[in-house]
Amino acid sequence: MGTVQYPLTVLYCGNCTLPIEYCEYHPEHDKCKQWLEKNLPDEFEKILIVNDALDEEGGEEKKRQKRGGKGVVKSRKKEEGPKVVYISRAPRGKKKSVTVVQGLSSFDIDLKVASKFFGTKFACGSSVTGEDEIVIQGDVKDDLFDVIPDKWPVIDEDFIEDLGDQKR
Ligand SMILES: [Zn+2]
Repeated sequence: MGTVQYPLTVLYCGNCTLPIEYCEYHPEHDKCKQWLEKNLPDEFEKILIVNDALDEEGGEEKKRQKRGGKGVVKSRKKEEGPKVVYISRAPRGKKKSVTVVQGLSSFDIDLKVASKFFGTKFACGSSVTGEDEIVIQGDVKDDLFDVIPDKWPVIDEDFIEDLGDQKR
């Protein structure tokens, strides 16, 4: 029923003769551990626990490895940004250019209706060329910044992004 009292004196390792807390720095640390396990099993346990804790914290070297290597890969969610209408100019032929409008359908705008509207408005050809793309035959890019918000007030001029000239 008595509790075991450990002497407060320093315990020395039978293998390397160093105080046991320094054993781990001894080249024959493995032999030290064997000796400890055999002769001072309680101390051996304690040291094991301490070493485990050190592994958790990481020695200097480990810390450095963690800082440098183990990159925290935060999966960046693709934020659904605000709806945007993209307008760009694309060359057609030597002198002509067309205007490409993308993103209208994200404002629930019927592309066919929009295309027809542009054709009428600018008196030129206009057609739906993709899932969310209208090509207007003519350089009307600058006009669109006024025309689109006028026609569809839900699309503020700020929602229209000028992608500039498309390169071929
Ligand atoms: Zn030792």
